[in-house]
Amino acid sequence: MTGKGWTFQSLIDAKMTVTAFCHHAPCNHSQKLDLAKLRDRFGPDAPAMADDIIPKLKCAKCGGRKVGTIYTPDTSPNAYGKAKGS
Ligand SMILES: [Zn+2]
Repeated sequence: MTGKGWTFQSLIDAKMTVTAFCHHAPCNHSQKLDLAKLRDRFGPDAPAMADDIIPKLKCAKCGGRKVGTIYTPDTSPNAYGKAKGS
């Protein structure tokens, strides 16, 4: 996923999920980011790489700022499924 400059809009278009994790040991809170909301707030072209997002994040549970992110592609099953017979 490196070498590509994500923006909030491109994450949404690519159906990516960004999950933020709190690194404070007793907390370990994780939360999916609301990309549509972030796009509305920062603009569709705002950079949305980990280095860009992390400074904006704060753990909703403990307020800690040691937060990491994981970018996950959409893996929901789709209509392609299995090829029929042969
Ligand atoms: Zn936390």
